[in-house]
Amino acid sequence: MKIAFIGLGNMGGPMALNLQKAGHALSAFDLSAEACRKFGADGLPIAASAAAAVEGADVVISMLPASAHVEGLYLGSDGLLGRIAPGALVIDSSTIAAATSRKVAEAGAAHGIAVIDAPVSGGTGGAIAGTLTFMVGGSEADLERARPVLEKMGSNIFHAGAAGAGQTAKICNNMLLGILMIGTSEAIALGVANGLDPKVLSEIMRRSSGGNWALEKYNPLPGVMDTAPASKGYAGGFGTDLMLKDLGLAQENAAAVRASTPLGGLARNLYAAHSLGGNGALDFSSVIKLVQARQG
Ligand code: NAD
Repeated sequence: MKIAFIGLGNMGGPMALNLQKAGHALSAFDLSAEACRKFGADGLPIAASAAAAVEGADVVISMLPASAHVEGLYLGSDGLLGRIAPGALVIDSSTIAAATSRKVAEAGAAHGIAVIDAPVSGGTGGAIAGTLTFMVGGSEADLERARPVLEKMGSNIFHAGAAGAGQTAKICNNMLLGILMIGTSEAIALGVANGLDPKVLSEIMRRSSGGNWALEKYNPLPGVMDTAPASKGYAGGFGTDLMLKDLGLAQENAAAVRASTPLGGLARNLYAAHSLGGNGALDFSSVIKLVQARQG
């Protein structure tokens, strides 16, 4: 089976490497020459363009930042849907608007190409370890076609519903994650301002009723957890601007269905302020800087 992989960023690069390790023939591409150089050096075969990468591919996977990138890649007169062989399967793992996923799936069907949305959770650690959670929108049959490929990159695969449903599940999850990271940051900052040792406090809360994913795997304070982006200058990981995009998608969706999401709205505004402060490219856990008490 030949797999084309488009988008070799913090998530896509390690996901593509896992597919190659599992023995699949890959052809990869990213618009960033630096990303191509980095993952080419790790052994990924790099194509000259996205169109060249999908030539003869049975499965095409994309892992791009946002809706506009996915529309630009697949739709329009130059779009990949005109290049991919009919009968092939497209798996878009980017987190984008559910409406865009449905649009691409409909356009794919018109070309005889099955398209599923399969956004992920688990962070860069999960991408590297191959333990991501996939939330799939599309038909059962297309999910079963994708399953052997998804299993090489993740350990949990859920069928959320029809086209776009994977995206809806993903923004619900990320709205919760965005809120949790701010709450966790506030609690740690409050303890530290009172002289508590952040490692001790984090461990107390991790094992108490405040325990959550940020405390388990992604502590926002530098030095508490060696593997977390906080301890690596907030580099890599999940960018503040990507979290801001996801919280924006959640708010748009909430307005469309008239849902009440006050904490989601507040979280979006806090990440927006953090991004305006010049932190958009830093990992989203750097939001702790907004709530840290001034020392001295
Ligand atoms: P990233 O910015 O690190 O990588 C995206 C890559 O896509 C970049 O290398 C960029 O050059 C490339 N790209 C953009 N347009 C392209 C095009 N038309 N053709 C080829 N390459 C193109 O982002 P990421 O952190 O890898 O995230 C990717 C997606 O996964 C986003 O939708 C994000 O919300 C989602 N996500 C990220 C994480 C995380 O922890 N980083 C976790 C879950 C989901």
